[in-house]
Amino acid sequence: MIAKRAGAIGILITLVLLLFVIRMAWLQLLPSHIPTASPAAGGRDGWKRMAVVQRQRSLVLDTGRGDFLDRNGLPITGETYMTVVLFPVRPDVRGSQEQLRKLSELLRIPKEELLHRWNGMTQPDFWREGTGKENPVRLTDNQANAIKSLGVEGVRVLPYRNRYLPQFDAKHLIGFTSQHPEWLMTAHERDIAQGRRKLTEQVGGSGLERSLDGLLHGIGETSVSYFIDGQNAPLHGLDLRVVQPNNRYYPLKVVTTIDLAMQNEIEAYADAMGLQEGAIVVLDARNADIVAMVSRPKLKPGQFNSNDGTEWRNYALTAVEPGSIYKLVTAASALEYGVVNPKEKFHCDGHYGRYGLSCWKEGGHGDLTFQEGLAQSCNIVFATIAERLEAEQMERTAEALGVMERVGWHSSHGFGPFPQPLRLLQEEEAGRLFASRGSGADGGVRVQSGIGQRDVRMTPLQAANLMVTLINGGRVMEPRIVSEVRYASGERMVELPARKLPVAGRSIRTDTAMALLRGMEAVVDHGTGRSIRAGTWQLAGKSGTAETKKDGAALNHQWFAGYGPAAKPRYAVAVLAANRPIGSAHQATKLFRGVMDIAAKHVHEPRGHGHRF
Ligand SMILES: [Zn+2]
Repeated sequence: MIAKRAGAIGILITLVLLLFVIRMAWLQLLPSHIPTASPAAGGRDGWKRMAVVQRQRSLVLDTGRGDFLDRNGLPITGETYMTVVLFPVRPDVRGSQEQLRKLSELLRIPKEELLHRWNGMTQPDFWREGTGKENPVRLTDNQANAIKSLGVEGVRVLPYRNRYLPQFDAKHLIGFTSQHPEWLMTAHERDIAQGRRKLTEQVGGSGLERSLDGLLHGIGETSVSYFIDGQNAPLHGLDLRVVQPNNRYYPLKVVTTIDLAMQNEIEAYADAMGLQEGAIVVLDARNADIVAMVSRPKLKPGQFNSNDGTEWRNYALTAVEPGSIYKLVTAASALEYGVVNPKEKFHCDGHYGRYGLSCWKEGGHGDLTFQEGLAQSCNIVFATIAERLEAEQMERTAEALGVMERVGWHSSHGFGPFPQPLRLLQEEEAGRLFASRGSGADGGVRVQSGIGQRDVRMTPLQAANLMVTLINGGRVMEPRIVSEVRYASGERMVELPARKLPVAGRSIRTDTAMALLRGMEAVVDHGTGRSIRAGTWQLAGKSGTAETKKDGAALNHQWFAGYGPAAKPRYAVAVLAANRPIGSAHQATKLFRGVMDIAAKHVHEPRGHGHRF
C-alpha cells in the first residue's frame, strides 16, 4: 500500500518535471526579438516575459569559444582583461555627484557625456572607447582598483575575454566570427532546440573560424545577469549573478602550424614594401606545414563583422594565372615523357613563328639548352616542348605534382572528433591546366598553356607546395595548418598528422625533380632571378609574370616561388603580387628575397618530423 502510494507520487513528480522541461525547452525556442517588457505585467505571459527580460539583461563576458595557438604555444586569439560594465540603474540611486565626477575622470570622459550615455541605456553594456563600437575599454590595474573602491551603484569592474588581440595578424587565415541566427537555425536546429547552442552566439564566418566552428563554439558562455525592479532600481543592491560553464575540458585550444613571430614580421614587411594585392606563403620545406600565410588587401580593424566579401578573399588560396611559374610543370612533363634531351640545343630569335607567340626577351636568347631555357624563362623553348607533348601527358604531370586539385590538409571521412569530411582551408580553389578535357588537342592551346597563360590557374599555396614536392623528390604533401587540438586541461584531443596527398597516377621520378631544382638554382645564380643573389641564404626559385585583366584593363600578376637554403632547404615560399601595372618593377622577386631573409631568422624543427613518415 505504502509502496503503491510512493509510486503514484513518483509518477506525479515525474509528470510535473516533464511539464517544466517542456516549458523550458519552449522558452529556449522563443525568437530573440520579443520586445522587453516588465515581468510585473504579469498574466499568463508573465513567466515567459520574465525569462526574456533576464536573458536580455545579461551580458556575455566570455563566449567560451576555443582559441588558436601558434606552433610555439603563443596565443593567436584570446586574452582576458578588466573592463567596466554599466547597468541601467535609475540616476538617483547611482551615487553622489562627487563619485560620478571621479568616475568620469577615471574613464577619461567628460561627466556630461558619461551621464548622457548612461541615461540612454536600456540594458547593461561595456564602457567602450570612441563612438561606442570599439572593444570594451581596457583598464589598468590602478584604474580597475580605483573604480571598484569608488562604489558607484550600477558600475562594475569585470573580466572580459577579447577574441582578437590588438596585434592580431593572420586575419585571412584565422577568419572572423559574427552572429548568424538564420544559419544556426537551419544547420544546428537540434542543438538549438536542446539548448546546446544559442541563436545569439558568434559563429565562424571564414577561415579556420568557419572550418572548425563545430569544435570551437564550445559548451557555453560566461555571462553576468542582474535583477532590478520595475523602476530600474537595484533589488537588494545590484544583485549580479555570473553564469559560467564548469568543465575542465573546454574551451578547446587549436594548435596551428603558424610561427606567429615570423607571420607578424612578414605582415609588417609586406606593408613596408607596399604589397597592395596578393599573397605570401611560407611552408616548411620538409613536411609542407604552413608556417606563415599573408594576404592583401589588408583588413582594417573592426571589419570582423562585415560580410561583404572581397577583403576577406584569401589570395593565398585563390587560383590565378601563374605565368612562367608553370614552366616548371611543363619542364617536368617534358623530362617524364622524354621529349627533350639535356644536351639538345634550342634556338630563340625572339619569335616562335606560330600562334603569334614571341619571347619576352626582344631579339631572343640565341642558342640555349633545356636547363638554360628554364633559367632564362625562354618562351620559345617551352613553346617547342609543349607542342611536342600530348595534352594528356601535360595533364598527368600536373596531377602528379598536385597543382590541379585542392592540396590543403583534408579528410574525406570523419576524423577523430570531426564527424564529417573535414577541410581546414575551405576557401582553397583547385588549380587548372585546360578549360576542358580535349581542348589541349590544339597546338596553340598547348603552347599558351605550357607557359602558364590561357586557362591555367594556380594558387600561391599550390605554388609553394610544388617547391616542397620537388624538394622531396616528387612526393606531394598536404599542407597542414593545424597540428593538434588540445583540451583546456592541456591534454591532447586529436592530432592531425602531416601526410601525403594521394595523387592520381604515379609520382614524378626523383631525377626529374632533381633536374628542376638544378634549373631553379640556375635561375637565381645567373638567370631571371639573379637580382636576389645576395642575402642570408643562397636561394633557388622561379619567377613568373602572367598577363591578366581586371575591369577590362591589362595588368600583370608577378610571381616568385622558390626555397632556401638552396643546398639544404628549410622553407619553401611563394609570392604573388597581383594586378600590377604592366612594365612595373618585379615586386614578387624582391619580396621573395626579403621574406627568405626573415624566415632565416626563424629556423626551428618541424613538428613531429622524423617519426611520422
Ligand atoms: Zn627566348
